[in-house]
Amino acid sequence: MFHRWTGSMTKRDIWVTPAFAGESVSAGYSFREGGYSEGAYRGLNLGFHVGDDTQKVTENRAYVAECGFGPVSEWVVAKQVHGNGVAVVGQAERSSGALADVLPVPDCDALVTNEPDTTLVVLTADCVPVLFYDPIHHAIGAAHSGWKGTTLHIVQQVFFHMNFLYHTEAKDLQVSIGPSIRRCCYEVDDKVADPVRREFGEQYLVPRFQTKGKYFLSLQACIQSDLRKLGVPAENIDDVGVCTSCHTDVLFSHRAEHGRTGRECGLIRLNQ
Ligand SMILES: [Zn+2]
Repeated sequence: MFHRWTGSMTKRDIWVTPAFAGESVSAGYSFREGGYSEGAYRGLNLGFHVGDDTQKVTENRAYVAECGFGPVSEWVVAKQVHGNGVAVVGQAERSSGALADVLPVPDCDALVTNEPDTTLVVLTADCVPVLFYDPIHHAIGAAHSGWKGTTLHIVQQVFFHMNFLYHTEAKDLQVSIGPSIRRCCYEVDDKVADPVRREFGEQYLVPRFQTKGKYFLSLQACIQSDLRKLGVPAENIDDVGVCTSCHTDVLFSHRAEHGRTGRECGLIRLNQ
């Protein structure tokens, strides 16, 4: 069912899978193909909050669950607020935000657990989905990292939680950076550039030719920098390299589709 991104897309290639996914951990990123939604949300829209038909989103989620991430009643979805809050979840939080009539985990942008059969889900459409796996202590995390979460170092917050709770060591942590808007398309102004400069440095911003105050930003490079500073080895960081804005035929992009679009997701689940 899952495929590595090869740079060319066929009808069957509706997913990418992190390098670390295997028997003990299921993980993947959904694409647009294969769902029931129509119009601006065409395809596999997984967001209830974007104005799509609730029944169609429910059917789309059930379809994804059947691909090794289910049942949907075991998913955990947060109300994402572009912060750096991390929630520790488990059996008690299952179904939160997963079903249309169950509230999401309140106001946070990352989830961690060491309980099997609990699927962590982050919804994105340009922001960076980041999945974490500690194969030694058998623990996982998922983060939604837009420019705000990135400049608030959300990926480091996930590690600190996993380290404190599960004794995860940076050298063992496997991390995957999913489909998201990339430097080719992500133009920002000084409102975004200033915190990036302050937190990461000028090198992550490429000035737009002859346009003062406009830059192209690589959130993925900032995230990699944060992970490397923690001591996560470069070979443990897997960037799938797909730009959402370049590929609205197969992915949802908030920027490219002027705010009216669906949500893809990153999912991760420990198996028994
Ligand atoms: Zn692009």
